[in-house]
Amino acid sequence: MDLKIVSKKCWTFDRAGKRRQLNFDTCYPLVKGDRAQDGAVRIFRPRRDRCPECGGRLSDFLVLDGRDERLRFLGIDGIFTATACLGCIPWASPSYSRFTLDGGSTPIFPYEGSGEEAMEDQDVEQMGENPYVLADGPAPLFYGADWDETSTIGGFPFWIQDWEYTPCPDCGRPMKFVAKLSWEMLDFMEGNCYVEVCPECRVASMHHQQT
Ligand SMILES: [Zn+2]
Ligand SMILES: [Zn+2]
Repeated sequence: MDLKIVSKKCWTFDRAGKRRQLNFDTCYPLVKGDRAQDGAVRIFRPRRDRCPECGGRLSDFLVLDGRDERLRFLGIDGIFTATACLGCIPWASPSYSRFTLDGGSTPIFPYEGSGEEAMEDQDVEQMGENPYVLADGPAPLFYGADWDETSTIGGFPFWIQDWEYTPCPDCGRPMKFVAKLSWEMLDFMEGNCYVEVCPECRVASMHHQQT
């Protein structure tokens, strides 16, 4: 795939030669805050259903309320949810899920690889108890790209390995970068989880990178 960075945008071209932007023009960091007061973003919300690969509990890695004023730039008129298995994510990259704007999310299995052991339920729950909320105001566009131990919505990612835009499993086009979630910020493991979206197909992808 040919990627081109022009004035703070990352573009590709589809088969019809139409330009397709692969990142958003706005970047918000996640900061510690009061989740009872601000529900625009949730990360690693535990679910009741289980991973058919390892048996561990699944998590909604990222839940965004596109109707919140701060997240209007995403152009998602409803809820975006990305669901995967914390135990499998380092091996299963990328993991995919489908979302509906009313908050529904269905993970797509099988994974290409999986974790050998399920994560304990209490560890999955503990990840969900993190204190992170969306910041009140935006950060510089490259904030997430400049500083590794931060989690950001929109903007540019910090790629530990190479630039990686996952092809959509439905339409085959490169997916659009939505969020970088720092595992280190959560004391989980090294590296980051990258969340991408195909807005047309309503598919989310999550993949892991580390040094
Ligand atoms: Zn699993
Ligand atoms: Zn698609």
